[in-house]
Amino acid sequence: MALSEYEGVPAVEPDSAESRLGTVVMKFGGSSVADPEKLKAVARRLVAAQRSGNRVVGVLSAMGDTTDELLALALRVSARPKPRELDMLISVGERVSCALAAMAITDLGHEAISLTGSQAGIVTDTVHGKAKIVDVRARRINEALDAGSIVLVAGFQGVSTSYDVTTLGRGGSDTTAVALAAALRADSCEIYTDVEGVFTADPRFVAGARKLHAVSYDEMLEMAASGAKVLQLRSVEFARNHGVRLHVRSTFTDAEGTWITEEDERMLEKALISGVTHTLEETVYRVEGASAASLFGALAEASVNVDTIVQTTPEIVFSAPVEDRDEVMDALGRLGLHYTARDDLGKVSVVGAGMKSHPGVAARTFATLDRLGVRPQVVTTSPIKISCHVATEDVERAVQALHETFELDSAEAERQRG
Ligand code: ADP
Ligand code: ASP
Ligand code: MG
Repeated sequence: MALSEYEGVPAVEPDSAESRLGTVVMKFGGSSVADPEKLKAVARRLVAAQRSGNRVVGVLSAMGDTTDELLALALRVSARPKPRELDMLISVGERVSCALAAMAITDLGHEAISLTGSQAGIVTDTVHGKAKIVDVRARRINEALDAGSIVLVAGFQGVSTSYDVTTLGRGGSDTTAVALAAALRADSCEIYTDVEGVFTADPRFVAGARKLHAVSYDEMLEMAASGAKVLQLRSVEFARNHGVRLHVRSTFTDAEGTWITEEDERMLEKALISGVTHTLEETVYRVEGASAASLFGALAEASVNVDTIVQTTPEIVFSAPVEDRDEVMDALGRLGLHYTARDDLGKVSVVGAGMKSHPGVAARTFATLDRLGVRPQVVTTSPIKISCHVATEDVERAVQALHETFELDSAEAERQRG
């Protein structure tokens, strides 16, 4: 069974009925603000955007590896930190970046104000560590923009309906940016990162990976859900549901990046497959004798992000992120179920809207894996994706071989996208 149903996204009330022209939301990831020089370069970029006539909101991530370092710090103090306190700790990194960027912008002679997620009006549910945005109250941002300021919003965080600081899950600054773009009715949401756009595969993994000019929301949802961490999955859901045009591009060049928009005819005519994505680790559980309703009810209750589900009576196999393992084991324990869990599998997926109208993608995928001697353990499909769980040690060569099979590194494939 394919699980391609994504969580719904709450309605976002724009601050005023009339649309505000010329607002741009620009999000910069961790490596884009990794040191003071880079932060100053980001400040110059935000100022340039304002000079060319835009109302500018910058959403910043924590500098470099700050979030990882804060998480490691917590674990040195406590083996299982309370989620509320963990959020208090790890939300700090984004605040540091924004305060520093505001100082740099002021030094350039422009007005700037930094805001925490809470001050910016990002209201979430109460699930610490992976909170969902339920409302955006953009009044304060709009007032600051009206007064001519560049507004810096700390990404990845909000305030819960019970007034606690929450975080939105790894990569969550993307979602902050898209939610603000929707609420402010921005012309577009620019995601500045350390690669030039969305590629046919992770460019750090596949040397021949190529930048895609445009990707549909549906393809990007599948790519994000199956490991292309360049955009957080929830940010793509939000963009699709609110019609936010996303532009993923490099912080370090002016090159045009990748546009994520509605599917158009040109996209359907293009190459069969848009990308090959992967994850290196996932935990795959095998549970016997459980009722699917109570099992997945308990996992939902524990806020576990279940990915693949395969049911063959009497067995249920499902996968979930490694970091959710404690919650899954607690939930299975509470239900008194017998299960096995393995951590030695990753997943390779081929994604492409062209698959809808062209048979044979599955055959070519399996033939490629067969030629490598790689045996898929669990296979799942959606209309535009085929995913195979394979041994972690085989992921890299499987991704490279599939990338070649579907000719994603050829200039010809790229031209067809144009
Ligand atoms: P940021 O800190 O800017 O949010 P991330 O590390 O979250 O950046 O995401 C960018 C990274 O995503 C890239 O450095 C790249 O290694 C990885 N990535 C994985 N798959 C893809 C893909 N298909 N296209 C582009 N980047 C990808
Ligand atoms: N700093 C957070 C993370 O590393 C959020 C983000 O960068 O989007 O996941
Ligand atoms: Mg990211």
